[in-house]
Amino acid sequence: MNKVLVTGGSGFLGSHLCDRLLADGHDVLCVDNFFTGSKRNVAHLLSHPYFELMRHDVTFPLYVEVERIFNLACPASPVHYQHDPVQTTKTSVHGAINMLGLAKRVKARILQASTSEVYGDPEVHPQREEYWGRVNPIGFRSCYDEGKRCAETLFFDYHRQHDLDIKVVRIFNTYGPRMHPNDGRVVSNFIVQALKGEDITIYGDGSQTRSFCYVDDLIEAFVRMMESPRGFTGPVNIGNPGEFTMLQLAEKVLSLVGGRSKLVFRPLPADDPRQRQPDIALAQEKLGWQPRVGLEDGLKETIAYFRQLLEA
Ligand code: NAD
Ligand code: UDP
Repeated sequence: MNKVLVTGGSGFLGSHLCDRLLADGHDVLCVDNFFTGSKRNVAHLLSHPYFELMRHDVTFPLYVEVERIFNLACPASPVHYQHDPVQTTKTSVHGAINMLGLAKRVKARILQASTSEVYGDPEVHPQREEYWGRVNPIGFRSCYDEGKRCAETLFFDYHRQHDLDIKVVRIFNTYGPRMHPNDGRVVSNFIVQALKGEDITIYGDGSQTRSFCYVDDLIEAFVRMMESPRGFTGPVNIGNPGEFTMLQLAEKVLSLVGGRSKLVFRPLPADDPRQRQPDIALAQEKLGWQPRVGLEDGLKETIAYFRQLLEA
């Protein structure tokens, strides 16, 4: 049993990670400022004897004793991370400094939830970990993209300078139950719109692509990465290489939900990447991991979750 800190633990991915860590027999400290996360996501864990929930903002120092740290605190949806861009950069950069300082003091192993956004709007396809990316440093997405890139820099400098035991995971679009209905990301938007019989909002002409990973697959990769040999730091891509245009996604959601929603076209947000697909050869080789849940099965689970939430 390890004492494990999960920052951003009441968010979408964090709450699933807390479930898994408790099921594996660990003692979990969940830290969150509830900016995009919700107590509802972890309400079922509050009576668990090895679960503790703490309201805390990672831009401030944290003094706790733990052996493992998963650093997930950061809004992930463009709508939310652009709401207060300065706070987004602070969360990534000051948050990383504070959590790395904590890891150094208590000699904990620390994993960073990085992102495919470090590749920006890529000229290399699919994206391998060696690719340095094409990121606009001064655009609307920069607070997130550059914040996450700087966090990676800090992780590797703490590793080289202080021999810190680090792990860096680059997550590609992940979806599933417990996404916030107003999260603004494409999968939750399309499903909620279809369930309410509202128009499905396609940004641009819908030909841009993304690769969608189901949350259970992602959590399995997190756990394997955290327990991988010390010599393997990453960065490692985690995602599902199945690649779909937003039009294909909309049609798939509509065919699964049914109903009478129409597709409507809205302006493409600035710096919206054209295409995105992970090369997961490194994860396959080092972690023996690959995704198991296809888009249709994952969407069915997610639709069932939102249906229940909207009915309630
Ligand atoms: P989420 O918004 O549901 O979760 C983020 C959590 O961090 C929320 O609970 C939020 O309240 C908390 N948080 C934000 N700022 C904080 C702060 N200053 N102090 C403490 N807590 C704070 O998003 P998610 O999809 O669960 O993402 C989790 C992590 O994974 C994020 O770091 C995100 O960048 C990364 N990621 C997610 C995806 C994805 O597709 N879901 C893709 C790439 C990277
Ligand atoms: N998108 C869309 N309609 C929506 C929300 C998003 O067409 O209602 C598009 C968005 O422009 C992007 C893709 O879906 O091309 C994925 O967007 P998301 O915000 O989920 O994540 P991103 O990968 O851009 O960070």
